[in-house]
Formats: sequence, structure tokens, C-alpha cells
Amino acid sequence: MPSRRPTRLTGPGRVFSPNWEPFPLPAGQVGAVVLTHAHLDHCGYLPALARQGFTGPVLATPHTAELAEIVLRDSARLLAEEAEHANSYGWSRHHPALPLYTEDDVDRAVRLITPVDPGQAAVIAPHATLMLHHAGHILGPAWARLEITGSHGSSILACTGTSAAPRTGCCARPTRSPGPTCCSSSRRTGTASTPTSRPGRPSPAPSPGPCSGAAQ
Ligand SMILES: [Zn+2]
Repeated sequence: MPSRRPTRLTGPGRVFSPNWEPFPLPAGQVGAVVLTHAHLDHCGYLPALARQGFTGPVLATPHTAELAEIVLRDSARLLAEEAEHANSYGWSRHHPALPLYTEDDVDRAVRLITPVDPGQAAVIAPHATLMLHHAGHILGPAWARLEITGSHGSSILACTGTSAAPRTGCCARPTRSPGPTCCSSSRRTGTASTPTSRPGRPSPAPSPGPCSGAAQ
């Protein structure tokens, strides 16, 4: 069997490989993924997750749904090109070097993306309701508000993805909502990704970051 270990190099003798580790639970048991925006460090693990058996919906705003498909298809082509280059020039320690995901994996992932309009409630599990709200950052981003109801009342979770005030007129201004019980946030784009190095060529794209939770 060919090794499916990483083609990613971060420097002499160093290998960045967490995306190649098995997902921490069976992917088929993941009920849904909430995608806050289309930067590759947020959507880039979806094809690998789909290949491992995830078949639930990927909930995102309509603009993020469109943009994520473009980003993922472009990423798959770059990964294939990178693996081909590594095999041609022998700079990977893995033979053959393989891409993290293929265009077929992207097809699987894209079919799962389910657009949800900002401000529209979507029931994603028997006691869990999602609402996406505008977030400045890039085109189409959202922060996610998840309300979970139980016998003792309800809890509200919020995930900002990466929220920032819009710098241009292309982004909707962030919208507010009543305070959540719990809030999580992520690092800004650029700090979570590791550039790919290749002899004699510029880094083609940030590497996909690991998908560590329900909202990315
Ligand atoms: Zn981002």
C-alpha cells in the first residue's frame, strides 16, 4: 500500500502532518458541520472528512457555499500539482507523495454544503437550532448561534469563526444577538495555517487546518 503520509514540509527535516491523522471520532457519526466562512483554514478539511464517511449537512451562508466550492476546487488542483512535483523531483520522503484530498473528495464535500440565509433558524438536531449572523471578514461570513434546549432550559453557544470589522464595502456589517452562554473564537487567518515550501517555487496556498469542532 502506498503511504498516504504528508507531502507537507515546513522546513528542513520537519513535517507538518496533523491533517493526516485519523479524525478523533468516526466521521459518519458527525451530525453536521457549521462553516462560518470560506477561508481554506476553515473549509479545507471538509473533503477529507467527506472521504472518511461524513454525510451530514455543511451549513453555511449562500455566499460562503459558493465561495467554498471555488476555494476547495482550487486547493485540490494545487495539492495534486504539489504531489506531482514532489514525485517528479523526489523532495518528499513519501513514495509516492499523495495529495491530502482529490477533486473527487471535493465533489463529495460540495454536495453536502447546505445554504442557510443569515437570520433564518435551522433545526440541525432534535434539540439544537442554528442561526447564522453576518460577520465582517471576507465575502459571506457568519458567526454561528446555536441554541440547545433540554429539560433544564436552553443554552446558547456562539462561535465567531473569525470576526472582524469589514474593511471595504463588500462585506455586510456584523450583526448582534442576545448574549450567549458560551462563546468560542478562532485565531485570525494566517496564524493557523502553515505555508508549503517547494524548491524553487513560491508557496501556492495555505495548508488546510484541522477541523476541531462542529463550527469552523
Ligand atoms: Zn478567515
